[in-house]
Amino acid sequence: MRSSSTPKTRPAPDLQALDARFEQAGLQRNLRGNAADITQRMRFARAAQLELVPVAPVPRVAANGVEWLPVAGWEKHGWLWHAFSTRRGGLSRAYCAGDAPGELNLGFTAADDPETVARNRRLLTEAITGDSATPLVALKQIHSNKIVLADAADASREQPWKADGQMTDEPGLLLGIQTADCIPVLVADRKRRAVAAFHAGWRGTVKRIVESGVGRMRLQFGSRPEDLIAAIGPGIGPCCYAVGEDALSEFESQFAYARELFREVYDADPVRTKYPMLFMTQRAPGHSPIGPSLHLNLVEANRRQLLAAGLKPRAIHLVGGCTSCQRELFFSHRASQGHAGRLMSVIGIRPDAP
Ligand SMILES: [Zn+2]
Repeated sequence: MRSSSTPKTRPAPDLQALDARFEQAGLQRNLRGNAADITQRMRFARAAQLELVPVAPVPRVAANGVEWLPVAGWEKHGWLWHAFSTRRGGLSRAYCAGDAPGELNLGFTAADDPETVARNRRLLTEAITGDSATPLVALKQIHSNKIVLADAADASREQPWKADGQMTDEPGLLLGIQTADCIPVLVADRKRRAVAAFHAGWRGTVKRIVESGVGRMRLQFGSRPEDLIAAIGPGIGPCCYAVGEDALSEFESQFAYARELFREVYDADPVRTKYPMLFMTQRAPGHSPIGPSLHLNLVEANRRQLLAAGLKPRAIHLVGGCTSCQRELFFSHRASQGHAGRLMSVIGIRPDAP
């Protein structure tokens, strides 16, 4: 199912002759090292950072002050509950300035008070279902491709399941995924009335959490891809998500379309661009502030997995937003150097659905 290595191209005829000559002489031409790395980097399309910033979505404000993002067009599915949270609303004081209003941290982070987080979660369920007592099932997320079948009893488990995806066809509960840069993905089966929620950071994306999730829905509920709708929520955008060679090589080993997910992004600072010599000695080689950095588009990576799983392009909605550069709306782990609250993406089936 997976290819384990990057496809190699045959050398051009003149290089074949050169290789033969080297071989005759008992030598081998060096195909690795710096030169090869440079040609590899040239293969990506280039972009300025600002071109890659997704449009910030406009939140809906609930009566209790919680601001959340709906999916355009999903209001016609009256049986469905769904929301992507923002940081606005709520009672947390852990991540805001002293005079700011409270915030909606939905993760039990070290810096926040657990009772405040629990109250925030009840505010979110109240905003979405009208009842703060609606069971909300959260996970202990571990960057895996593990998916569990959830029911209302899981909401009161002392230790949540260790997994990165959950699904249910039981009405009356919400499935929740926590993020602060990673990509949340919600999926619903319109015909069989089943729902699922997935957590996709780069490691989970490489492990195909969303593709396997759709497969699990098929096994569990008999879901057909043509009946599925999906929404990809806000995460760190291609504008801000600089990654290392390790992420690149993992994606290249797993996905034939990997190179389409990366862009070379240049520093937009005009002084640095005009006087590069001034900045040459400030950082280690390979981390030049004027050189390109490699940015990954995780939203597109997960859209491609939904397409690979058989969903129609028009059945996939992108909510938009970048958690890292739209910090007035979102929590970002990377932009806050790890000191961040958690957003939550929820989906469920209304118990009173017609
Ligand atoms: Zn950004």
